[in-house]
Amino acid sequence: EAGRMMFANPVEFLKGVVAMSGLPPADRLEVCFAGRSNVGKSSLINALTNRKNLARASNTPGRTQEINYFTTQDGPYLVDLPGYGFAQAPVAVVAKWQALLKEYLSGRATLRRAFVLIDTRHGVKAVDEEILTLLDRAAVTFQVVMTKADKVGVKDREKAIEQVRGALAAHPAAYPEIIVTSSEKGDGIATLRAIIAGLA
Ligand code: GDP
Repeated sequence: EAGRMMFANPVEFLKGVVAMSGLPPADRLEVCFAGRSNVGKSSLINALTNRKNLARASNTPGRTQEINYFTTQDGPYLVDLPGYGFAQAPVAVVAKWQALLKEYLSGRATLRRAFVLIDTRHGVKAVDEEILTLLDRAAVTFQVVMTKADKVGVKDREKAIEQVRGALAAHPAAYPEIIVTSSEKGDGIATLRAIIAGLA
C-alpha cells in the first residue's frame, strides 16, 4: 500500500493555530481536512493515522477552535480545520473563523489539496457549498471524502454519490474522484492514505 510508509511512523500533533502568524514554516506540502461539525472528521483523522484520539473525537459548539497541525514521517502536514456549521456558534466567532479560513486557504502556498468531508447520509448542503466556493476562489484543489458510508445501504450510497457528483460539477476546483469512507469499518482509509502519499 502506497501510503503505508508515511503512516508507519506515528503521526504527531504539532500545534494549534489561531492566526496566520502562528502557522508553522511552509517547509513542506500540506493537506487539510474540512467539514461540518459532526461529519466524522476526528474519526477519519484517527483512522488515517491509526491513533485512537489524535484528533479530539468531539468538538464543543462555539468554543474557540484552532487549526490543528499534525506531522507525518517525510510527508505533508495534515491540517485539521475547525468544523463549520454550528447553528449555535456566536456570529462573531463564525465571522472570525471565516476570515481566518479565507486567509489560510488563499495564503498558504504549500497547501496542496483540501479534503472536504461530506456525510454520506446528508450529501452536500448549503453550508458545504460556502466552503467549496471559497476553495474555488482560492484555487485550492479539493477532493470530497464521503464519511460514515456504513450508515447507509448500497442504494442510498449510490444516490448520495450522484448528488455529490452533481454538486461538484459547479466547482472548478473540484477533483473529480470521490472517496467513500467508513472510519468505523475502515473502508476507503487505505485509498485516502495512498492519495495523500501520492501528493508528497
Ligand atoms: P467531527 O465533529 O467531524 O470530528 O465528528 P466525529 O469524528 O466526532 O464523529 C461524530 C459522530 O459520528 C461520532 O459519534 C462518531 O462515532 C460517529 N462516526 C464518525 N465516523 C463514523 C463512521 O465511519 N461510521 C459510523 N457509523 N459512525 C461514525
